[in-house]
Amino acid sequence: FQVTDRIYQVRGFDISNMTIIEGSRGVIVIDPLVSSEIARAGIELYFQHRGRKPVTAVIYSHSHVDHFGGVRGVIDEADVKAGNVVIIAPDKFMEEVTKETILAGTPMLRRAMFQFGGLLPKGPRAQVDAGLGKVISRGTVTLIPPTQIIKQPIEVHTIDGVEMIFQLTPDTEAPAEMHMFYPGLRALNLAENATHNLHNIYPIRGAQVRDANAWAKYLNEARDRFATKADVVFAQHHWPVWGNARLLDYLAKQRDTYKYLHDQTLRLMSHGLKASEIAERLALPKSLEKEWHVRGYYGTFSHNAKAVYQRYLGWYDANPANLNPLPPVERAKKTIAYMGGAAAAIARAREDFAKGEYRWVADAMSQV
Ligand SMILES: [Zn+2]
Repeated sequence: FQVTDRIYQVRGFDISNMTIIEGSRGVIVIDPLVSSEIARAGIELYFQHRGRKPVTAVIYSHSHVDHFGGVRGVIDEADVKAGNVVIIAPDKFMEEVTKETILAGTPMLRRAMFQFGGLLPKGPRAQVDAGLGKVISRGTVTLIPPTQIIKQPIEVHTIDGVEMIFQLTPDTEAPAEMHMFYPGLRALNLAENATHNLHNIYPIRGAQVRDANAWAKYLNEARDRFATKADVVFAQHHWPVWGNARLLDYLAKQRDTYKYLHDQTLRLMSHGLKASEIAERLALPKSLEKEWHVRGYYGTFSHNAKAVYQRYLGWYDANPANLNPLPPVERAKKTIAYMGGAAAAIARAREDFAKGEYRWVADAMSQV
């Protein structure tokens, strides 16, 4: 897909997008998808339409695997070692990649199977897509370490003839992330901080909770500094927004959504509500609730509000009974016995199920 003059994207090949910018000598690849086979197919598709050119630079917008895993499908490490290709990444990129894919890698990968449904059959009653894009590709995940790290809050570089202003956005959608503005092309790339759905302050695959306040702050900074001079805004998932008035409105509402989530969770926390009570009560205000691009097609207000609570107060809800309860199996046995045994509990659950009380039935029956 063409984004604007000299900027193209491969979309629909993987959960994420690969962005290709045409430079003076060759092309700059931003985020080479999840696996090398799919990244190779993606860049070949681009070459078919735009002609074969050398890859002169790779940029990793942030530290998640769907933004670097296919790198060996678009470049050869020998060319990096020979100095023919630069790889640019945000500050602390390698440290954060190590935390998510190695230190917490095993349980996070296991839980990602539940979040994205990768093992389900495909179809309308099974896996439709993965929210942020199509399914996660299952090829070979690779990594070549960056050769150039963006360390200052704002840095300006010319990469293969293209002027780029990098804006670090730590502790937003990823702990190491950055936006990019290309002033000559009047195009703003917001990595994964503005997508066409409410994103996750806490992804249910498991991760350190993110900072909704920082997220809003950096979107606001990008809007003030760059968006007024942009004709298109795009990200490394989903599709662009064209037209200056439309993209300013889009970014204001994205910013306001994360800020509202943060501020209103804190307000209700101060009134003494627990995370689950805040999650039940919090909803978008009228000014935002009718906007498609902030609705919960990926994250939800409910579990994100709990994440804001967790960031400030942790998992404990200050009820002593919840500090050291019996572990799940022992607790379930006693609870079901108190209910009069499994058969009695299931009989009542069937009645409630027929009445549509699905949340309660799922909760009670998870103990049988
Ligand atoms: Zn992503």
